[in-house]
Parts: sequence; C-alpha cells; structure tokens
Amino acid sequence: MRKLHQRIKTDPVRPETPRSRSRSSDKKQSGSLIPLMLVCLAALSVGGILTAHFLGLFSDSSPMPTTVSTPVLIGSSDSAAASAPAENLPLTGKTIFLDAGHGGYDNGCIYPDSDPTYVEKDFNLQIAFETQEELEALGAKVIMLRTDDSFLSIYARPAMVHLFCLDHAEELGMEPLPEDLELRLREGMEEAIRVNSEDISAGCMGAMVGSGFSEDMIALMESEYKIDDVIFLSIHNNWNSDPSLHGTQMYFVTDDSIIKSEERLIREDPYYSDPDYIVREGYWGREWERNRLLSRFLHDAITESAPELEPNVPELVEDNFAVLREHGLASVMLELTFVSNPEDRDRLTNEQVIRKMAKGIAQGCIYYYNNTNS
Ligand SMILES: [Zn+2]
Repeated sequence: MRKLHQRIKTDPVRPETPRSRSRSSDKKQSGSLIPLMLVCLAALSVGGILTAHFLGLFSDSSPMPTTVSTPVLIGSSDSAAASAPAENLPLTGKTIFLDAGHGGYDNGCIYPDSDPTYVEKDFNLQIAFETQEELEALGAKVIMLRTDDSFLSIYARPAMVHLFCLDHAEELGMEPLPEDLELRLREGMEEAIRVNSEDISAGCMGAMVGSGFSEDMIALMESEYKIDDVIFLSIHNNWNSDPSLHGTQMYFVTDDSIIKSEERLIREDPYYSDPDYIVREGYWGREWERNRLLSRFLHDAITESAPELEPNVPELVEDNFAVLREHGLASVMLELTFVSNPEDRDRLTNEQVIRKMAKGIAQGCIYYYNNTNS
C-alpha cells in the first residue's frame, strides 16, 4: 500500500497507531483508490539509535553496530567470490536497493481490520528477500534497507541512499562535490537517520527539509543523475475499499507530479506551516524519464512471469513519494497486489507466485539495463 513511504516531502506522516488508514494520499487518482490506498501508513517516529547503525553501513572502518536490524550489502560480505562477480552475468556491476516498505509499528495495510492475518510489512520483506536471491544469482549487488521488522522512517531511507551515492560517486571517479558541501550533506543525512521519524521540528528531514530542493540538494541530485549502475526499488502491496481491484501497479515520480502535489499540500495541510519547513519554488530538473522506463520494464516483466498479476487498475501511475522523490537514482515503487482483494491474498500466500514475482522483478531489471546504455 502506497501511503506511508510515499510520504511527500510536504506531507510527513503524523504519529498514528500502527494500523493507520486515515490519511488521504497526496495525489488525486481515481476517487475510490485514494482514500484506501492510505493504508500503509503509520510512520511514527522512533528516534533513536539507528544512526550509528546506518552510518556504519557503507564504511569499512567502523564495525557494524548490532543494536537493530542490519541492512546488509548482500553478496559482498559473505563470499569473496561475490566481490568478483562472474563477468558474463546479466546484472554484473549493477547495484540494486531493495526497500521493503513499512516495518516495526508501521504495519502498512492489513486484513482483516481486527486481529489481522495479512500484514503488508511482512509480505514486503518476504518478497524483497526472494528478489534479492534472484538478483544476486544474476550477478547484482543488493542493498536491503530493512532486513527485519524494524521501523525506518521515509526520510531515513533516502538518507541512506544519499550516503551510499556520495561514496559510490568517489569509487566511480566522478567529480567530487566541494568538501564543505559534502560535509554539510553527510551531516544532514546522518541527522535524518538518527531522528528516524516524521517530526519536522525534530529534524526528521535533515538536509532534505522543505519543498523543492536547496542548492546543496540540487548539487547532490545532479551527481546522482550521473549514477546509472544503481537503481532503487521500493516493495509494497496495496489496499482499497473496492475489493474487486487487483494486480500489480508501478508508481514513479516526475517533476510535475511532485510539484502539483507539494503545492496542494502546502495550501491545504496546516502541518506545513511548521516554521522549520522551508517552502521553495518547484524543482524542474529531475531525470524522471528513466523512472518511467524502469516502471514499464518492471511491469511488463512481472506480468509476463506471473500473468495472474495483470491489474484491473492503471499499470503505471505518476505520484509523489518521499522514498522515490528525495534522491536522484532511477526508482520505482512496486505495488504488487491488493491485500484488499481475496484472490490477491491467496497469491500473496502462494510461494510459487512470490517466486514468480521475484523472477519478474529481476527480469525487469535486465530489460531496463539492456535498453539503457548503462
Ligand atoms: Zn505500503
């Protein structure tokens, strides 16, 4: 379900009880979809102890703290062979972020309402692990943002992506950002990870605070547009009050979809009158065409691999989500099924369908890289 993770910069999730269904999405799609596509909410601030954990993620110097779940750069740590991937594998040299949506007290969407037996956050993680296996077998390095039932805010996630990209740009020999600028950005991302909430006044957005982008963030986004050997996939499942809606949808961001939604939320939602929230001009500079392309290839490959996931709702949707919007990598949010649909619930508990989903996602990444000269 889209809601939480899609939190737009201007629409932080207010603390809610874990099973939050009350938020209205930020983007007007077909009426019946919106109100209920809000299920995967309930991002509540944990604050906390995550910083040390995530900050140690990509640097070899500091040993991995063991306080909470440890996202792992799968394939690189546990087999020397993995660091020397076979040259002829289709995804060799590619890095793929797998973001299992929700986690911790944030269940995402659930079914039934009381005493739920279907909890989105668990399926997201299961599908992410299955997909990780498929991708690694194809030579990719996989970074799992969440590897257990931990809460991770919708700003801590892009902050982790930014820290990785700053290191990766160096590895690729890209023109470095001015030292003071890079230091400011790193501190801002570490703050978002440390705070790990949606409380603006607590600094939850770090360097990403406000609508549009600051000059610092624009410099970072422009360096990330040059990184094309890394993509970001956010794994979710949907919900709607109309139980007949079913199947797989891809959500992606464009300049237009973000600006329209930010303008509306700043106008309508008092939350954005927070003095710490900076209102800027809309940002027109995103490399969003590759988001659409990746969405297309993923949708085709997934429904090819699992025809039962063909949807009766729009296949590709432009929208606005913090976990996609706040960084410059090619990125997509995959809403694989509707937890509100009985047939889709059966599919979610069918190992074979999960495996076909994972194979389809991996194949979609191959199609994307075969069709983009990267
Ligand atoms: Zn969700």
